[in-house]
Amino acid sequence: MNSFSSKNRQGLIEQLNNSTFDLLIIGGGVTGAGIALDAAARGLKVALLEMQDFASGTSGRSTKLIHGGLRYLKQLEFKLVSEVGKEREIIHKIAPHLTRPETMLLPIFKNGSFNKFSVRLGMWVYEWLAGVKREERHRVLTAAQTLESEPLLKKEGLLAGVLYYEYRTDDARLTVEVIKEAVARGVQALNYMRVTGFVYQGNKINGVTVEDMFAKNTYTIYSARVVNAAGPWVDDLDQMDGAGHGKKLKLTKGIHLVVDKSKLPVSQSVYFDTADKRMIFVIPREGKTYIGTTDTFYQGDKIHPQITAEDQAYLLKAVNAYFPRNTLAVSEIESGWAGIRPLINKPGKGPSEISRKDELFEWDSGLITIAGGKLTGYRKMAQRVVDTLTKTGRFSSTAGPLTISECSTDRISLAGRDATGSFHFPEFVIDKTKEGEELGLSKEEASRLIYRYGSNVDKIYGYVRDLKQANYAGELPSWVYAQLLYSVDYELCTTPCDFFIRRTGALYFDISMVRHCKNALIGTMNQLLGWDEALKKKLADELQSALDAL
Ligand code: FAD
Repeated sequence: MNSFSSKNRQGLIEQLNNSTFDLLIIGGGVTGAGIALDAAARGLKVALLEMQDFASGTSGRSTKLIHGGLRYLKQLEFKLVSEVGKEREIIHKIAPHLTRPETMLLPIFKNGSFNKFSVRLGMWVYEWLAGVKREERHRVLTAAQTLESEPLLKKEGLLAGVLYYEYRTDDARLTVEVIKEAVARGVQALNYMRVTGFVYQGNKINGVTVEDMFAKNTYTIYSARVVNAAGPWVDDLDQMDGAGHGKKLKLTKGIHLVVDKSKLPVSQSVYFDTADKRMIFVIPREGKTYIGTTDTFYQGDKIHPQITAEDQAYLLKAVNAYFPRNTLAVSEIESGWAGIRPLINKPGKGPSEISRKDELFEWDSGLITIAGGKLTGYRKMAQRVVDTLTKTGRFSSTAGPLTISECSTDRISLAGRDATGSFHFPEFVIDKTKEGEELGLSKEEASRLIYRYGSNVDKIYGYVRDLKQANYAGELPSWVYAQLLYSVDYELCTTPCDFFIRRTGALYFDISMVRHCKNALIGTMNQLLGWDEALKKKLADELQSALDAL
């Protein structure tokens, strides 16, 4: 059985319980994932524990862009722009299937936040700082060219436009791929395991207490060092360590709305300013268009942040003002999501003014807390954490002294990328699309699988082939069934929500498939994982609540 199969969850828990680690990471978002991979690649014995599913927190609820960091230029965050710009290139190289360069149109209007001169100057500085490749540098368009590029845009007051590049990603899948690569390098990672407290030797932390969120069993896991990478929950974890760590975070909520592409058929992504001087994205994706985001201070439930009527009204008003021929109504919203930004508190600043920089805290107990940051900067954040850990040493809980190597994650291809180096990726897509079509998939289905799984699409195709040979004629379409088998066998997919939200993104971008297939999927997962009736009902209710919340 694969070492990351949810069929073997109890075995994985026992393995975890019987081991002692150099490093234990709390939080299976992209920050924790990045640290796990970096540390494992440097030779540390690592555990990662996540209380929900991987990427259930902020890392599955972002705008899904690997940013070059243009926005931060306005706040004069030059170092941040330079770092995330370079990181974008690296992530594209190590995971080409998950990071697609796409043009973004920034229209310039009379009385808007920008003028042609300030945008050109800003773009020039941005491209220089971020090291943007020559072929991806910006282009200034006249008003007529801007409308040609995006005919739905309002004409009134349009002066010009700028086309530049952003990279689109799938945040949850990026997180899962980083974790899979870490697991392939020996990390013991488990979802649905909540850290409930710390254990100490003298005044130093040497482990954590954990609760299995399904069986409710509790365990003590020992580790020489512990990192708190709990995103919006970092203050809660720090609080468990002891008084005096203080509150570091200010949380803000950001929501996205999804409509069918036919309701707002933009031909490309657009980034525009709002009346309150914020910026909003409109992004076409997989037959849908999504719009985001808001930025409001937040103090509510961190596990289930909701989209309010006010959030919807704000985004619809902004988008309708720019696309007046395709006025959207609330009833046309198909789906959406809300996420919480774990920002480092800077008193007196408004939600959108607070820096997106990360900060690292080292406490007397030995606990290291990493907070703030961006999805785009996850690899560098991880490097900083592991560098700090290696400087302070103390890995004596496992085998003897360790020689810890340099960070190498800029050269580690993420799972699913082997043989698809970014240079060859276009040919790979052509070959695999053809292969998918020969298997009976549509071109669109094959393409989605290739971009979702990279070279692991071979395993998905393998399942499709097996189903075909077995003359499968069940309710789940074979390409959906194949993904379910793969995610259960290789991605610790444990619940229907894991599958429809984090493994495939279908709840956001293919809602009719979710509604159509949900009962068949629950039945099939039940057969694969052998739930008892109570658990089956709980998990079915959880999926229904996610659908009802839309
Ligand atoms: P999380 O992803 O929240 O991970 C922390 C994890 O810790 C959670 O999964 C949680 O369940 C777990 N946890 C908490 N307590 C415990 C415990 N006791 N035991 C075990 N586990 C625990 N960045 C970009 O680069 N590009 C974007 O386009 C972008 N857009 C954004 C849009 C929005 C609306 C938001 C909110 C953020 C956006 N970001 C973007 C920022 C980015 O998403 C975050 O910086 C990043 O995902 C934070 O990751 P994290 O791992 O630190 O936190």
